[in-house]
Amino acid sequence: MQHPTYDTAKIRSEFPSLDRDVNKHHLIYLDNAATSQTPRRVVSAIEEMYLRHKANVHRGVHTLSQEATDLQEATRRRVRDYINARSEREIIFTRGATESINLVASSFGGEFPEGGEIILTVMEHHANIVPWQLLQKRRGLKLRVVDINERGELDLTQYASFFNERTVMAAFCHISNVLGTVNPVKEMVATAHSHGVPVLVDGCQAAPHLKMDMQDLGCDFYTFSSHKMYGPTGIGVLYGREELLEKMPPYQGGGEMIDHVSFSGTTFAELPFKFEAGTPDFVGIAALAKAIEFMETTGLERMARHETELLRLAEERLRAEVPGIRIFGNAREKAPVLSFLIGDNHPYDVGMLLDGLGIAVRTGHHCAQPLMERLDIPGTVRASFAAYNTESEVNDFVAGVARIAAMLG
Ligand code: PMP
Repeated sequence: MQHPTYDTAKIRSEFPSLDRDVNKHHLIYLDNAATSQTPRRVVSAIEEMYLRHKANVHRGVHTLSQEATDLQEATRRRVRDYINARSEREIIFTRGATESINLVASSFGGEFPEGGEIILTVMEHHANIVPWQLLQKRRGLKLRVVDINERGELDLTQYASFFNERTVMAAFCHISNVLGTVNPVKEMVATAHSHGVPVLVDGCQAAPHLKMDMQDLGCDFYTFSSHKMYGPTGIGVLYGREELLEKMPPYQGGGEMIDHVSFSGTTFAELPFKFEAGTPDFVGIAALAKAIEFMETTGLERMARHETELLRLAEERLRAEVPGIRIFGNAREKAPVLSFLIGDNHPYDVGMLLDGLGIAVRTGHHCAQPLMERLDIPGTVRASFAAYNTESEVNDFVAGVARIAAMLG
Protein backbone atom coordinates (compact mmCIF):
# COMPACT_ATOMS: atom_id res chain seq x y z
CA MET A 1 0.00 0.00 0.00
CA GLN A 2 2.92 2.32 0.72
CA HIS A 3 4.13 4.07 -2.44
CA PRO A 4 7.86 3.74 -2.97
CA THR A 5 8.24 7.50 -2.87
CA TYR A 6 6.03 7.97 0.18
CA ASP A 7 7.97 7.35 3.36
CA THR A 8 5.85 7.79 6.50
CA ALA A 9 8.81 6.96 8.77
CA LYS A 10 10.75 9.85 7.28
CA ILE A 11 7.74 12.16 7.57
CA ARG A 12 7.11 11.11 11.18
CA SER A 13 10.73 11.84 12.10
CA GLU A 14 9.86 15.52 11.60
CA PHE A 15 7.06 15.31 14.18
CA PRO A 16 8.50 14.66 17.67
CA SER A 17 5.05 15.17 19.22
CA LEU A 18 3.92 11.87 17.67
CA ASP A 19 6.60 10.00 19.51
CA ARG A 20 5.08 9.80 22.98
CA ASP A 21 2.87 7.57 25.06
CA VAL A 22 -0.65 8.29 26.21
CA ASN A 23 -2.21 6.10 28.88
CA LYS A 24 0.64 3.59 28.53
CA HIS A 25 0.05 3.18 24.78
CA HIS A 26 1.95 4.74 21.94
CA LEU A 27 -0.01 7.80 20.82
CA ILE A 28 -2.16 7.41 17.70
CA TYR A 29 -3.19 10.91 16.72
CA LEU A 30 -6.38 10.91 14.64
CA ASP A 31 -7.71 14.36 15.48
CA ASN A 32 -6.13 16.09 12.52
CA ALA A 33 -9.29 17.81 11.30
CA ALA A 34 -9.31 19.77 14.56
CA THR A 35 -5.62 20.62 14.39
CA SER A 36 -2.60 18.90 12.89
CA GLN A 37 0.69 18.26 14.62
CA THR A 38 3.58 20.56 13.77
CA PRO A 39 6.79 19.62 11.97
CA ARG A 40 10.11 20.52 13.54
CA ARG A 41 10.96 23.01 10.78
CA VAL A 42 7.92 25.13 11.74
CA VAL A 43 8.84 25.07 15.43
CA SER A 44 12.46 25.92 14.55
CA ALA A 45 11.26 28.87 12.47
CA ILE A 46 9.27 30.15 15.46
CA GLU A 47 12.31 29.74 17.70
CA GLU A 48 14.51 31.50 15.16
CA MET A 49 12.09 34.43 15.02
CA TYR A 50 12.08 34.82 18.81
CA LEU A 51 15.81 34.30 19.19
CA ARG A 52 17.03 36.43 16.26
CA HIS A 53 14.44 38.56 14.47
CA LYS A 54 11.99 39.72 17.14
CA ALA A 55 11.09 43.27 16.25
CA ASN A 56 7.80 44.82 15.32
CA VAL A 57 7.08 44.77 11.61
CA HIS A 58 6.51 47.71 9.24
CA ARG A 59 7.29 50.50 11.69
CA GLY A 60 11.03 50.34 12.01
CA VAL A 61 14.02 51.39 9.98
CA HIS A 62 16.35 49.27 12.06
CA THR A 63 17.70 45.97 10.79
CA LEU A 64 15.75 43.61 13.05
CA SER A 65 12.47 45.23 12.12
CA GLN A 66 13.32 45.02 8.44
CA GLU A 67 14.21 41.34 8.81
CA ALA A 68 10.93 40.56 10.59
CA THR A 69 9.01 42.52 7.94
CA ASP A 70 10.81 40.75 5.12
CA LEU A 71 10.03 37.35 6.61
CA GLN A 72 6.36 38.20 7.08
CA GLU A 73 6.03 39.56 3.56
CA ALA A 74 7.89 36.58 2.11
CA THR A 75 5.18 34.35 3.60
CA ARG A 76 2.52 36.53 2.01
CA ARG A 77 4.09 36.01 -1.40
CA ARG A 78 4.48 32.32 -0.71
CA VAL A 79 0.78 32.02 0.19
CA ARG A 80 -0.11 34.00 -2.94
CA ASP A 81 1.79 31.51 -5.10
CA TYR A 82 0.57 28.51 -3.13
CA ILE A 83 -3.10 29.34 -3.68
CA ASN A 84 -2.56 30.95 -7.11
CA ALA A 85 -3.95 34.36 -6.20
CA ARG A 86 -3.24 37.17 -8.65
CA SER A 87 -1.57 39.49 -6.18
CA GLU A 88 -0.26 39.60 -2.62
CA ARG A 89 -2.67 42.48 -2.10
CA GLU A 90 -5.34 39.78 -2.04
CA ILE A 91 -3.75 37.91 0.92
CA ILE A 92 -4.86 39.14 4.34
CA PHE A 93 -3.52 37.61 7.53
CA THR A 94 -6.12 37.10 10.24
CA ARG A 95 -6.29 35.18 13.52
CA GLY A 96 -7.99 32.25 11.80
CA ALA A 97 -10.81 31.27 9.50
CA THR A 98 -13.32 32.39 12.13
CA GLU A 99 -11.98 35.92 12.12
CA SER A 100 -11.79 35.91 8.31
CA ILE A 101 -15.49 35.08 7.98
CA ASN A 102 -16.43 37.68 10.59
CA LEU A 103 -14.37 40.20 8.63
CA VAL A 104 -16.21 39.49 5.38
CA ALA A 105 -19.66 39.38 7.02
CA SER A 106 -19.03 42.62 8.86
CA SER A 107 -17.20 44.61 6.19
CA PHE A 108 -18.54 43.23 2.89
CA GLY A 109 -21.98 42.45 4.34
CA GLY A 110 -22.32 45.78 6.13
CA GLU A 111 -24.24 47.34 3.27
CA PHE A 112 -26.41 44.36 2.28
CA PRO A 113 -29.96 45.63 1.66
CA GLU A 114 -32.78 44.73 4.02
CA GLY A 115 -34.54 41.57 2.85
CA GLY A 116 -31.37 40.30 1.14
CA GLU A 117 -30.84 36.54 1.17
CA ILE A 118 -27.69 34.62 2.04
CA ILE A 119 -27.32 31.01 0.90
CA LEU A 120 -25.56 28.67 3.36
CA THR A 121 -25.57 24.88 3.66
CA VAL A 122 -26.62 22.55 6.44
CA MET A 123 -23.09 21.13 6.67
CA GLU A 124 -21.44 24.42 7.73
CA HIS A 125 -19.18 24.82 10.75
CA HIS A 126 -20.53 27.36 13.26
CA ALA A 127 -17.80 29.72 12.03
CA ASN A 128 -19.65 29.95 8.72
CA ILE A 129 -23.10 30.29 10.31
CA VAL A 130 -22.98 32.56 13.33
CA PRO A 131 -21.25 35.59 11.67
CA TRP A 132 -24.04 35.55 9.06
CA GLN A 133 -26.69 35.24 11.77
CA LEU A 134 -25.24 38.29 13.53
CA LEU A 135 -25.39 40.16 10.23
CA GLN A 136 -28.89 38.84 9.58
CA LYS A 137 -30.09 40.57 12.75
CA ARG A 138 -28.29 43.81 11.96
CA ARG A 139 -29.41 44.08 8.34
CA GLY A 140 -32.77 42.27 8.34
CA LEU A 141 -31.61 39.46 6.07
CA LYS A 142 -32.86 35.96 5.37
CA LEU A 143 -30.70 32.82 5.49
CA ARG A 144 -31.48 29.98 3.09
CA VAL A 145 -29.97 26.61 3.94
CA VAL A 146 -29.11 23.99 1.32
CA ASP A 147 -29.85 20.40 2.37
CA ILE A 148 -27.85 17.19 1.81
CA ASN A 149 -28.78 13.82 0.32
CA GLU A 150 -28.39 10.44 2.06
CA ARG A 151 -24.72 10.23 1.03
CA GLY A 152 -23.99 13.57 2.66
CA GLU A 153 -23.64 15.47 -0.61
CA LEU A 154 -25.20 18.88 -1.17
CA ASP A 155 -28.49 19.07 -3.04
CA LEU A 156 -27.22 21.12 -5.96
CA THR A 157 -30.66 21.42 -7.56
CA GLN A 158 -31.96 23.06 -4.41
CA TYR A 159 -28.83 25.23 -4.25
CA ALA A 160 -29.42 26.51 -7.80
CA SER A 161 -33.13 27.06 -7.08
CA PHE A 162 -32.37 29.36 -4.12
CA PHE A 163 -30.89 32.13 -6.26
CA ASN A 164 -33.19 35.05 -7.01
CA GLU A 165 -33.01 38.84 -7.30
CA ARG A 166 -32.76 39.18 -3.49
CA THR A 167 -29.70 36.89 -3.12
CA VAL A 168 -26.71 38.87 -1.88
CA MET A 169 -24.19 36.17 -0.95
CA ALA A 170 -23.45 32.45 -0.98
CA ALA A 171 -21.11 30.96 1.63
CA PHE A 172 -20.20 27.29 1.94
CA CYS A 173 -17.38 24.99 2.91
CA HIS A 174 -15.01 23.37 0.44
CA ILE A 175 -14.97 20.20 2.59
CA SER A 176 -17.29 19.29 5.46
CA ASN A 177 -15.43 18.83 8.74
CA VAL A 178 -17.94 16.14 9.77
CA LEU A 179 -18.89 14.27 6.60
CA GLY A 180 -15.68 14.75 4.64
CA THR A 181 -17.75 15.68 1.59
CA VAL A 182 -15.75 17.58 -1.01
CA ASN A 183 -18.14 20.09 -2.52
CA PRO A 184 -17.99 20.95 -6.24
CA VAL A 185 -16.84 24.48 -5.48
CA LYS A 186 -15.99 25.54 -9.01
CA GLU A 187 -19.43 24.56 -10.29
CA MET A 188 -21.15 26.18 -7.29
CA VAL A 189 -19.22 29.42 -7.80
CA ALA A 190 -20.19 29.44 -11.49
CA THR A 191 -23.87 29.04 -10.55
CA ALA A 192 -23.66 31.93 -8.08
CA HIS A 193 -21.79 34.16 -10.52
CA SER A 194 -24.34 33.47 -13.27
CA HIS A 195 -26.75 35.28 -10.90
CA GLY A 196 -24.20 37.98 -10.09
CA VAL A 197 -23.85 36.70 -6.50
CA PRO A 198 -20.47 36.75 -4.70
CA VAL A 199 -19.17 33.64 -2.95
CA LEU A 200 -17.17 32.94 0.19
CA VAL A 201 -15.59 29.49 0.53
CA ASP A 202 -14.57 28.12 3.92
CA GLY A 203 -11.48 26.15 2.95
CA CYS A 204 -10.39 25.08 6.45
CA GLN A 205 -10.63 21.37 5.76
CA ALA A 206 -9.37 21.65 2.19
CA ALA A 207 -6.11 23.42 3.04
CA PRO A 208 -4.33 20.31 4.38
CA HIS A 209 -5.45 18.03 1.54
CA LEU A 210 -6.22 19.82 -1.72
CA LYS A 211 -4.54 22.16 -4.12
CA MET A 212 -6.24 25.52 -3.55
CA ASP A 213 -6.35 27.49 -6.79
CA MET A 214 -8.13 30.81 -6.48
CA GLN A 215 -8.04 31.68 -10.16
CA ASP A 216 -9.39 28.28 -11.12
CA LEU A 217 -12.15 28.22 -8.48
CA GLY A 218 -13.10 31.79 -9.27
CA CYS A 219 -14.48 32.48 -5.78
CA ASP A 220 -14.58 35.99 -4.31
CA PHE A 221 -13.37 35.08 -0.82
CA TYR A 222 -11.60 31.98 0.49
CA THR A 223 -10.29 31.30 3.97
CA PHE A 224 -8.30 28.76 5.94
CA SER A 225 -6.44 28.37 9.24
CA SER A 226 -2.73 27.67 9.49
CA HIS A 227 -2.99 25.29 12.47
CA LYS A 228 -4.88 22.66 10.46
CA MET A 229 -2.19 22.59 7.75
CA TYR A 230 0.90 21.85 9.88
CA GLY A 231 1.42 25.53 10.66
CA PRO A 232 1.37 27.64 13.83
CA THR A 233 -1.80 28.43 15.75
CA GLY A 234 -3.44 31.85 15.75
CA ILE A 235 -3.07 32.65 12.06
CA GLY A 236 -5.55 32.50 9.24
CA VAL A 237 -5.52 33.56 5.65
CA LEU A 238 -8.30 35.46 3.99
CA TYR A 239 -8.08 35.63 0.23
CA GLY A 240 -10.33 38.23 -1.36
CA ARG A 241 -10.59 39.48 -4.92
CA GLU A 242 -8.76 42.78 -5.07
CA GLU A 243 -11.56 44.77 -6.67
CA LEU A 244 -13.93 43.78 -3.83
CA LEU A 245 -11.38 44.32 -1.05
CA GLU A 246 -10.61 47.77 -2.47
CA LYS A 247 -14.24 48.84 -2.02
CA MET A 248 -14.74 47.31 1.42
CA PRO A 249 -14.44 49.43 4.57
CA PRO A 250 -11.88 48.39 7.21
CA TYR A 251 -12.98 45.74 9.70
CA GLN A 252 -11.01 46.91 12.73
CA GLY A 253 -9.27 50.21 13.34
CA GLY A 254 -5.89 50.86 14.90
CA GLY A 255 -2.23 50.92 14.07
CA GLU A 256 -0.81 49.38 10.87
CA MET A 257 -4.08 49.82 8.93
CA ILE A 258 -3.87 53.60 8.48
CA ASP A 259 -2.27 55.94 6.03
CA HIS A 260 -2.68 59.14 8.08
CA VAL A 261 -4.61 59.79 11.29
CA SER A 262 -5.99 63.14 12.25
CA PHE A 263 -8.96 64.23 14.33
CA SER A 264 -10.23 65.94 11.22
CA GLY A 265 -10.25 62.65 9.32
CA THR A 266 -8.24 59.46 8.87
CA THR A 267 -7.14 57.76 5.68
CA PHE A 268 -6.43 54.07 5.42
CA ALA A 269 -3.47 52.02 4.28
CA GLU A 270 -3.31 50.21 0.96
CA LEU A 271 -4.30 46.59 0.63
CA PRO A 272 -3.75 44.24 2.31
CA PHE A 273 -2.76 46.32 5.36
CA LYS A 274 -6.13 48.09 5.48
CA PHE A 275 -7.47 44.87 6.99
CA GLU A 276 -4.58 44.13 9.35
CA ALA A 277 -5.07 46.41 12.35
CA GLY A 278 -2.57 46.14 15.19
CA THR A 279 0.62 44.12 15.50
CA PRO A 280 0.15 40.89 13.55
CA ASP A 281 1.44 37.52 14.70
CA PHE A 282 4.52 38.06 12.57
CA VAL A 283 6.33 35.20 14.31
CA GLY A 284 3.69 32.69 13.33
CA ILE A 285 3.24 34.20 9.89
CA ALA A 286 6.95 33.80 9.18
CA ALA A 287 6.77 30.17 10.32
CA LEU A 288 3.71 29.44 8.15
CA ALA A 289 6.03 29.54 5.15
CA LYS A 290 7.74 26.45 6.57
CA ALA A 291 4.43 24.58 6.82
CA ILE A 292 3.81 25.33 3.16
CA GLU A 293 7.34 24.17 2.40
CA PHE A 294 6.62 20.93 4.29
CA MET A 295 3.50 20.27 2.23
CA GLU A 296 5.18 21.17 -1.04
CA THR A 297 8.21 18.99 -0.44
CA THR A 298 6.14 16.06 0.80
CA GLY A 299 3.85 16.55 -2.18
CA LEU A 300 0.22 17.48 -1.66
CA GLU A 301 -1.07 14.92 -4.15
CA ARG A 302 0.97 12.09 -2.66
CA MET A 303 -0.17 13.07 0.83
CA ALA A 304 -3.80 13.12 -0.30
CA ARG A 305 -3.48 9.73 -2.01
CA HIS A 306 -1.97 8.22 1.13
CA GLU A 307 -4.65 9.74 3.38
CA THR A 308 -7.44 8.51 1.10
CA GLU A 309 -6.03 5.00 1.24
CA LEU A 310 -6.04 5.15 5.04
CA LEU A 311 -9.63 6.38 4.98
CA ARG A 312 -10.75 3.56 2.66
CA LEU A 313 -8.94 0.95 4.76
CA ALA A 314 -10.51 2.25 7.98
CA GLU A 315 -14.00 2.39 6.46
CA GLU A 316 -13.80 -1.08 4.94
CA ARG A 317 -12.47 -2.69 8.09
CA LEU A 318 -14.92 -0.90 10.42
CA ARG A 319 -17.84 -1.99 8.22
CA ALA A 320 -16.58 -5.57 8.10
CA GLU A 321 -15.53 -5.98 11.72
CA VAL A 322 -17.69 -3.76 13.91
CA PRO A 323 -21.32 -4.79 14.23
CA GLY A 324 -23.64 -1.79 14.56
CA ILE A 325 -21.14 0.68 13.05
CA ARG A 326 -22.83 3.72 11.48
CA ILE A 327 -20.65 5.84 9.20
CA PHE A 328 -21.88 9.37 8.44
CA GLY A 329 -20.80 10.75 5.08
CA ASN A 330 -20.42 8.54 2.03
CA ALA A 331 -19.88 11.16 -0.62
CA ARG A 332 -18.39 10.10 -3.93
CA GLU A 333 -15.62 12.62 -3.33
CA LYS A 334 -14.53 12.45 0.26
CA ALA A 335 -11.66 13.83 2.32
CA PRO A 336 -9.97 11.71 5.04
CA VAL A 337 -12.55 12.43 7.73
CA LEU A 338 -14.45 9.49 9.21
CA SER A 339 -17.46 10.20 11.41
CA PHE A 340 -19.16 7.26 13.05
CA LEU A 341 -21.24 5.91 15.90
CA ILE A 342 -21.43 2.44 17.35
CA GLY A 343 -25.14 1.69 17.53
CA ASP A 344 -26.72 4.17 19.92
CA ASN A 345 -23.69 4.48 22.16
CA HIS A 346 -22.79 8.03 23.08
CA PRO A 347 -19.77 9.39 21.16
CA TYR A 348 -18.12 10.61 24.39
CA ASP A 349 -18.08 7.07 25.81
CA VAL A 350 -16.42 5.73 22.67
CA GLY A 351 -13.95 8.64 22.56
CA MET A 352 -12.94 8.23 26.21
CA LEU A 353 -12.40 4.50 25.79
CA LEU A 354 -10.27 5.14 22.69
CA ASP A 355 -8.22 7.67 24.67
CA GLY A 356 -7.60 4.90 27.20
CA LEU A 357 -5.92 3.04 24.32
CA GLY A 358 -3.82 6.10 23.41
CA ILE A 359 -5.98 6.91 20.39
CA ALA A 360 -6.94 10.58 19.99
CA VAL A 361 -10.22 11.17 18.14
CA ARG A 362 -12.71 14.00 18.39
CA THR A 363 -16.19 13.50 19.78
CA GLY A 364 -19.30 15.64 19.86
CA HIS A 365 -21.01 18.00 17.45
CA HIS A 366 -17.78 19.28 15.86
CA CYS A 367 -19.18 22.84 15.85
CA ALA A 368 -21.83 21.71 13.37
CA GLN A 369 -24.95 21.48 15.52
CA PRO A 370 -27.39 22.16 12.64
CA LEU A 371 -25.91 19.17 10.81
CA MET A 372 -26.30 16.99 13.92
CA GLU A 373 -29.93 18.11 14.14
CA ARG A 374 -30.39 17.24 10.44
CA LEU A 375 -28.89 13.78 11.01
CA ASP A 376 -30.86 13.42 14.25
CA ILE A 377 -27.84 12.38 16.31
CA PRO A 378 -26.19 13.94 19.39
CA GLY A 379 -22.77 13.91 17.77
CA THR A 380 -20.25 11.56 16.24
CA VAL A 381 -16.83 10.09 16.89
CA ARG A 382 -14.50 11.52 14.27
CA ALA A 383 -11.18 10.07 13.16
CA SER A 384 -9.28 12.18 10.66
CA PHE A 385 -6.05 11.32 8.91
CA ALA A 386 -2.95 13.30 8.05
CA ALA A 387 0.25 12.80 6.09
CA TYR A 388 2.03 11.08 8.98
CA ASN A 389 -0.60 8.48 9.88
CA THR A 390 0.15 4.87 9.01
CA GLU A 391 -1.65 1.70 8.00
CA SER A 392 -0.60 0.11 11.27
CA GLU A 393 -2.22 2.98 13.20
CA VAL A 394 -5.43 2.43 11.25
CA ASN A 395 -5.33 -1.27 12.10
CA ASP A 396 -4.86 -0.50 15.80
CA PHE A 397 -7.66 2.06 15.65
CA VAL A 398 -10.08 -0.44 14.06
CA ALA A 399 -9.09 -3.12 16.58
CA GLY A 400 -9.71 -0.59 19.36
CA VAL A 401 -13.16 0.32 18.04
CA ALA A 402 -14.04 -3.39 17.67
CA ARG A 403 -13.00 -4.05 21.28
CA ILE A 404 -15.03 -1.09 22.54
CA ALA A 405 -18.04 -2.18 20.48
CA ALA A 406 -17.89 -5.66 22.00
CA MET A 407 -17.57 -4.14 25.47
CA LEU A 408 -20.43 -1.66 25.06
CA GLY A 409 -22.64 -4.21 23.35
N1 PMP B 1 -14.57 25.89 9.25
C1 PMP B 1 -14.31 24.57 9.29
C2 PMP B 1 -14.86 23.68 8.22
C3 PMP B 1 -13.55 24.06 10.34
O1 PMP B 1 -13.29 22.75 10.39
C4 PMP B 1 -13.05 24.94 11.33
C5 PMP B 1 -12.22 24.43 12.49
N2 PMP B 1 -12.78 23.34 13.16
C6 PMP B 1 -13.35 26.31 11.23
C7 PMP B 1 -14.11 26.74 10.18
C8 PMP B 1 -12.86 27.31 12.23
O2 PMP B 1 -11.48 27.41 12.21
P1 PMP B 1 -10.69 28.25 13.32
O3 PMP B 1 -11.20 27.75 14.64
O4 PMP B 1 -9.26 27.92 13.08
O5 PMP B 1 -11.01 29.68 13.10
